[in-house]
Amino acid sequence: MEIPFLNLKSAYKELKSELDQLWTDINKDSFYVHGSRLKAFEEEFAQYLGVKYTLGVANGLDALVLGITAIGIGEGDEVIVPAHTFIASWLAISQTGAIPIPVDVDNKTCLIDHTKIEDAITKKTKAIMPVHLYGLVCNMPPILEIAKKYQLKVIEDAAQAHGAFDIKTNQRAGTFGSVAGFSFYPGKNLGCFGDGGSVATNDSKIHETIDLMRNYGSSVRYHHEIVGVNSRLDELQAGILSTKLKYLDEWNERRREIAKFYLQELNKVGDIVLPEYNAGHVWHIFHIRSSKREQLREYLANNGVGVNVHYPTPIHLQPAYQYMNIKKGAFPITETISQEVLSLPIGPHLTKEEASVCVRKIKEFFR
Ligand SMILES: *Cc1c(COP(=O)(O)O)cnc(C)c1O
Repeated sequence: MEIPFLNLKSAYKELKSELDQLWTDINKDSFYVHGSRLKAFEEEFAQYLGVKYTLGVANGLDALVLGITAIGIGEGDEVIVPAHTFIASWLAISQTGAIPIPVDVDNKTCLIDHTKIEDAITKKTKAIMPVHLYGLVCNMPPILEIAKKYQLKVIEDAAQAHGAFDIKTNQRAGTFGSVAGFSFYPGKNLGCFGDGGSVATNDSKIHETIDLMRNYGSSVRYHHEIVGVNSRLDELQAGILSTKLKYLDEWNERRREIAKFYLQELNKVGDIVLPEYNAGHVWHIFHIRSSKREQLREYLANNGVGVNVHYPTPIHLQPAYQYMNIKKGAFPITETISQEVLSLPIGPHLTKEEASVCVRKIKEFFR
């Protein structure tokens, strides 16, 4: 039995009749960019999150870049970011001319360690970018408190956290800061059939600015108020996202069931360290840790279990960021995580049987 790390075929199959109808309808109007479907999705997603506005853009990276730019951050400004994240979080900051200032993460949650943020603040610091990595909301109250104390903006990278919420307040990821970026890359919890992204904000000025920026700086055709870019979410992707948004909570619930199963079955197996259960977690990724990660990864791959590593090389040690001159050892927790972490198959279409095989193979490895 081959167990795919990600099963997008079954996601399509489950919604086939609705999605095929959408394709037929779209080709009836033949209106492909910035039409009624984008507008509808933006309103639905805003309502789902509990924010005033969302804006569809071309991808998650653009969502972050546009968000950072719209709140007035750019050349020479410093933005605090977790050392352990997907490189897009750092790249979004770099792309605006601002400087990513990494902070190590918490060993338990793998999320930004709020106790290390204040030491990284300088006169140039303008913002903090918490990343709700793996689908778990960061510990936001202390982060928001630090932001308030030093008058910093908060930009959330919510690319892996569609529907995730804080269990104390029920507040959803993407609604805490001035602005948040989401990705709809196919494998994300809410994914389209290509690239897509969204910015969420409660601020009408930010909404207005990004609305102009994403469309050549223009709201009236051939009249350009600012120097903009082309970063749009097309009608087909918006329609697909509207269709899939209706299933997001149910699909996240299925991920939770698998997570619970893994947590129960893998408890005390070998030297595995498991993530903690949290009811607001949407399990974009189910990660385990083991000192034998490389051997385990190879064993599972050889036995047909699709696994992955998020992420094998810390960003500060990537060739792209060598110019920052950050030495090995600078972020010890991030560096250890990158050596120990392993992502197991999870998703709304992973069957109980597939999860059981995965568990069995892991137990076999440690026997
Ligand atoms: C996927 C992802 C992004 C970027 O999204 P794209 O749509 O691929 O541009 C940003 N940050 C994190 C944490 C991500 O996982």
